[in-house]
Amino acid sequence: MKIAFKKIGAQTKKVDVSKEGLRIEGTLRRAQGTLVDLGGRMSGEVEVECIRCGESFSLAIDEDLKLRLSDGVYRGFDEEADVVEFYDGSIDMEQILDSESASIKLDYHICPKCKQQEGDDNGSTKETCE
Ligand SMILES: [Zn+2]
Repeated sequence: MKIAFKKIGAQTKKVDVSKEGLRIEGTLRRAQGTLVDLGGRMSGEVEVECIRCGESFSLAIDEDLKLRLSDGVYRGFDEEADVVEFYDGSIDMEQILDSESASIKLDYHICPKCKQQEGDDNGSTKETCE
């Protein structure tokens, strides 16, 4: 799915794309100048490799996504969001999915089996539910 930067004006544009089990639902909104903000949610599953045993397992993904998309080279630094550059005047949603899934794969992951063996000895943190 490709969307021309030109087509994103004052009104937001909804996107809903999925590839290889990963899905992005969100909206594109014109920021300043050549920048477009993508805000939404990423969900699904990504196949990752356990750093302990090397086995691959599928990791459930459900997180907020915030990206700043640049029409051409972006020469600034953005603290609020990661910037993704596109060079042909259009936003390639598949490219975003690919790079998000690639960056998830680059993280350290421990499979449920190894986690269980590890037990609670690494000082488990309790997350508060909303
Ligand atoms: Zn493992």
